[in-house]
Amino acid sequence: MTTFKDTGLSADILQAIGEMGFETPTPIQEKTIPAILENGNDLIALAQTGTGKTAAFGLPVIQQVDIKTRGVQSLILCPTRELCLQIAKDLVNYTKYKKEVKILAVYGGTPIVSQLNELKRGTHIVVGTPGRTLDLIKRKALKVNDIKWLVLDEADEMLQMGFKDELDAILETTPSEKQTLLFSATMPTGVRKIAKNYMTNPDEISVGKKNQGADKVNHVYYMVKAPDRYKVLKRIADIHPNIYGIVFCRTRRETKDVADKLMQDGYNADALHGDLSQAQRDFVMQRFRTGALQILVATDVAARGLDVTDLTHVINFNLPDDPEIYIHRSGRTGRAGKSGTSIVIIHSRENRKIKELEKISGKKFEHKQVPSGREICETRLFNLVDKVTNVTVDEKQIGSFLSAINEKLESLDREELVKRFVSVEFNRFLEYYKNAPDLNAGSSNSRDDRSDRGERRERGERGERGERSRTPRGDFSRFYINLGSKHNMSAASVIGFINDVTKSSHLEIGKIDILRKFSFFEVTKDNEKLILDSFQGIQRDDVDVEVQLSVPNPNETRGDRNSSQNRRSGGSRKDYSKGDGRKSDGRRSDSRRGDSPRDENKKNHRKGSRPQKKW
Ligand code: AMP
Repeated sequence: MTTFKDTGLSADILQAIGEMGFETPTPIQEKTIPAILENGNDLIALAQTGTGKTAAFGLPVIQQVDIKTRGVQSLILCPTRELCLQIAKDLVNYTKYKKEVKILAVYGGTPIVSQLNELKRGTHIVVGTPGRTLDLIKRKALKVNDIKWLVLDEADEMLQMGFKDELDAILETTPSEKQTLLFSATMPTGVRKIAKNYMTNPDEISVGKKNQGADKVNHVYYMVKAPDRYKVLKRIADIHPNIYGIVFCRTRRETKDVADKLMQDGYNADALHGDLSQAQRDFVMQRFRTGALQILVATDVAARGLDVTDLTHVINFNLPDDPEIYIHRSGRTGRAGKSGTSIVIIHSRENRKIKELEKISGKKFEHKQVPSGREICETRLFNLVDKVTNVTVDEKQIGSFLSAINEKLESLDREELVKRFVSVEFNRFLEYYKNAPDLNAGSSNSRDDRSDRGERRERGERGERGERSRTPRGDFSRFYINLGSKHNMSAASVIGFINDVTKSSHLEIGKIDILRKFSFFEVTKDNEKLILDSFQGIQRDDVDVEVQLSVPNPNETRGDRNSSQNRRSGGSRKDYSKGDGRKSDGRRSDSRRGDSPRDENKKNHRKGSRPQKKW
């Protein structure tokens, strides 16, 4: 087995990393450290966060820095301020016994003056984000024309975050004789182009797609109906009372929605996404790092640079577009010798993505059943009992209250007492999960209800199973809107449109049916007027938007799915019930051309799922 000594590192560095607990080099370190120390070849290393790449480039660079020269000798570029600070901090730790090596982090979102002053004082290694680095170069405060080592860390991320122009501009100003070390988790075309344009005959090494701790990650998935994702997430959180994890979402909006709902529902959660200010992001990350926050809901980009080693779970609320990103996400758990679980919530048509992931990761994904209400209650009950068993009793403090407490509880025998104490906490789970449906896709008990907003309503709808009529439920009003899939409407864009037009993101929106030329949506009854008033005179992509109340046909029996699109005519209300294809105003509707809601449903059904980007 290769040791750090074998890699050619000097005694002062060996001592520092030894104290940090680095006993043997990780695979990437084993390959890169001797390569960087022994020759000046450019190097492309395919490696992910958590593989030990900071030391892989940092240690050999530190060792070779000429402390007699004052100028900048190495520039390390990385995508985010957090990663920048992390790298600089790691480098400082590696130089514990080589303090003459000066390291400086430069990044945006913070006043430039102190960075200008630090640069004036002289530094050997600069770790920077592309934007601020370029700014400093342009101000002639940072001179990179003499650097010997250029490191591009997480090159794919830098490009994905739109730093291509900055990278090009920076690379143009660096000398051609330097050694360029490019680290990237993936090799998309953009990164290849950088390698082609700015590197000379680079050696290429890969430590495989798997993360350092990937062997300690088990992968599980729950197959559910898409609208049930949030409910399933809650059940996952409930069955893991000590969860410490990241829930990955695809968009900022989804991140915000999921985090808001979790917080409203009483979970110790918060959101991390690009719409937050730097100060807000720092605050959330700090709370998460220290364990004050249990669940972090984040986008991939925002979670970059967040180096937390003891996550119990990574939850994919939605799978990313690129399978490689899944590998990256899951590698955030199962680190530092601990095991972790990567959970994927998928809907039934995404099954093949799991097969693809199994192929890429070489790991088997376990199809787990969404825990039932009873299982969750049982887990929480025993968790509570464990807590009671293990709690530290402060005899001194509690002593003075004991006699009064005993007096109050005198009438209860032991069994009664135990039951009552446990019920204080347990009742809310019992109540919450009473008659909770089976959420596994394909189960006869699960419902396809796009309108569901968490399990709060799940309880309210108890007993309605099988009555999936298109009549609005008690507290919702149903509206017709003359925009459909033909106008690029989707459930998400309907929600966005309603929020924009009403200037509110707090409306409770129920079921949404997207048809080709028109759609239906539900909003709580108390917002009926707001909707009708707000949509007056609104245009969207040159279409005069028409929104009207839509009411059920009185002849339609509840639960009569076949006639569920029928609507009673009345006033300005939309009517699609006429069998002769006429609207209530006598004009012919589109139903005979195959555009009636029901035909549309059939068409949608036949069409199946939309093609996905990269899967
Ligand atoms: P990185 O991929 O550089 O972000 O490193 C991930 C984590 O692994 C950090 O917490 C490092 O301190 C740690 N680490 C890096 N190399 C080693 C090693 N050889 N032995 C033990 N831990 C390491």
